[in-house]
Amino acid sequence: MTTERVRCLIIGSGPAGYTAAIYTGRANLSPVLYEGLQPGGQLTITTEVENFPGYPEGIGGTELMDDLRKQAERFGVDIRTGIATKADLSQAPYKITIDDEKIIEADTVIISTGATAKYLGLEDEKKYAGMGVSACATCDGFFYRKKTVAVVGGGDTACEEAIYLAGLASKVYLIVRKPFLRASQIMQDRVMSNPKIEVLFEHNTVGLFGENGVEGAHVVKRMGEADEERYDIAIDGFFLAIGHKPNSDIFKEYLDTDEVGYILTEGATPRTKVPGVFAAGDVADPHYRQAITAAASGCKAAIEAERYLSENNL
Ligand code: NDP
Repeated sequence: MTTERVRCLIIGSGPAGYTAAIYTGRANLSPVLYEGLQPGGQLTITTEVENFPGYPEGIGGTELMDDLRKQAERFGVDIRTGIATKADLSQAPYKITIDDEKIIEADTVIISTGATAKYLGLEDEKKYAGMGVSACATCDGFFYRKKTVAVVGGGDTACEEAIYLAGLASKVYLIVRKPFLRASQIMQDRVMSNPKIEVLFEHNTVGLFGENGVEGAHVVKRMGEADEERYDIAIDGFFLAIGHKPNSDIFKEYLDTDEVGYILTEGATPRTKVPGVFAAGDVADPHYRQAITAAASGCKAAIEAERYLSENNL
């Protein structure tokens, strides 16, 4: 296995990773950034980003990430394709294995690996993966033009995906397990006023069926305390939007995480309990999970890395 020594290793290419790259690049730390499983991160699978400051008309998620990448390249950041598959943070320099074939020894590590979409855990989700089951409306919505789809979840993501799909499909069911939506009021209003969206409150999905791909879902409607009604809905596509799991598994042996897996940092800083190792963006943020907050924490992590290197004469 080959080994390479770097001063600053950034893992992940969402807003946190790229912002850390821009700052560490400008500070001449010669950062190396590995893009990870989903280059550009979660924003590349969203549609319009309307709340990133500086874009009065909004900007496409992929476009925003392309711009951040170009900005990082301008400062000489070495951006590479690859996934961190193993980590040894027991002593400095820290050893991160890339694609199980190369070890990067890094004086500082910025973990910005983000979070991944969650599934309900039904066998049928696996059975119909790529055959009607998706966790990304913007990636797969195109295949459901003039068809009927269901979106599971009651948060902002679910509402956003339902609205996006309503622009393509002829009908969208929004399957919500509680009697209310958790999403922000503006998203709720948009969902409730969209004639193509039917919200199924207090419903759970227990299975999917179909010969060659999804043709329907078995749902259960809760009726009062003890009663429930089981029935089927005919759908061609089943979209999950029930939140995310932080991508922290390979670091858990060395870092503290909460029960969900979010990396715990010192107060409002991106410092982890290992000196020189920082966590930025969604992997360490159970609360805000916004592109702008991820970018901000990437900036903080970069400044911390710079200080750490200079304080330790590295
Ligand atoms: P959230 O955690 O906010 O919502 C998850 C939703 O999925 C909840 O309604 C939850 O139900 C439901 N859910 C979770 N597990 C299950 C399950 N097993 N079965 C059925 N339903 C389930 O996640 P989001 O991805 O929607 O949002 C994450 C963050 O990103 C939030 O802070 C959100 O505001 C933000 N965001 C902002 C956007 C914007 O401003 N444009 C766009 C998208 C996201 P329950 O309510 O019962 O827990």
